[in-house]
Amino acid sequence: AKARGRNGYRFYAPAMSGDGELRLRMEALLRRAIDKDEIHLAYQPQVEIDSGRLIGVEALLRWNSPELGQVAPSSFIPLAEDTGFIGQLGQWVLQEACRQMVAWEARGLAVPKIAVNLSVRQFERGGMAAAVAGVLQDTGLAPQRLQLEVTESVIMNTGDALQYVNDLHAVGVCLAIDDFGTGYSSLAYLKQLPVQTLKIDRSFIKDIPQDPDDEAIAIAIIQLGKSMNLSVIAEGVEREDQAAFLLRHGCNLAQGYLYGKPLAHGEILARWGVEQNA
Ligand code: C2E
Ligand code: CA
Ligand code: CA
Ligand code: CA
Repeated sequence: AKARGRNGYRFYAPAMSGDGELRLRMEALLRRAIDKDEIHLAYQPQVEIDSGRLIGVEALLRWNSPELGQVAPSSFIPLAEDTGFIGQLGQWVLQEACRQMVAWEARGLAVPKIAVNLSVRQFERGGMAAAVAGVLQDTGLAPQRLQLEVTESVIMNTGDALQYVNDLHAVGVCLAIDDFGTGYSSLAYLKQLPVQTLKIDRSFIKDIPQDPDDEAIAIAIIQLGKSMNLSVIAEGVEREDQAAFLLRHGCNLAQGYLYGKPLAHGEILARWGVEQNA
């Protein structure tokens, strides 16, 4: 296997070379995964807490490899980022997500919005706005029904972030800051960005109502969103007491296992299709 010089691997050759080989193998398999139909999207519902109404879905990548089994996005996405394959993968996600929205609609379910995650590598390369415009054109999805999610760290670590975000805004898509509160971001900088949504990171929701610090942070984010006229959605909502807390503090949007795990497109249709037609 090719030597991976970086972290002093040579001192731990037996164990680490195994990891390196797995990485190389995974990389090779991942590159073929799209063509072999091993990749698909799961869709996690986003709802209004008080009414239960579906306000959107987040598209989440899934890789079911015959050789490796189900591989978590947290392991193959960083790999795709390191190897540059994320460009192709991200383009596939965008296309598939938009296509699915149109397909649902043809079956009678108008999902208001679909959220798609953008990785730093896609973002920093520029040209994202043109790619997004192309996919919208191809699929016929209205731009305001596509929400792109970028993390604070993506924005803060990209030199021309303001320009790129403005370009995307000009295409007419919605922008959300993902994992809000976990990154290092300047609020003054944030103020300049044409974003519409803040997503409160799951780490702040997880221990509500046991942890007063997390409660304080969640409240602060909700207030910040309000004062900046942004919508705020909480992620990782698993229990009713968390939902009640959010509602009490003025956040009516949530995503989490309480409302649904990431689902197959047919499950979204089965659960919300009939209801919306009634
Ligand atoms: P994320 O964007 O923060 O996505 C939310 C993650 O939290 C998802 O994990 C989702 O399954 C999980 N989750 C949602 N609700 C709950 C809950 O109530 N409890 C718990 N414990 N977990 C919950 P997943 O699907 O494993 O994705 C992990 C990360 O991988 C995502 O975090 C995102 O950063 C990345 N990712 C997934 N799909 C894509 C993609 O298409 N492109 C890019 N660039 N990144 C993606
Ligand atoms: Ca996300
Ligand atoms: Ca998130
Ligand atoms: Ca997260």
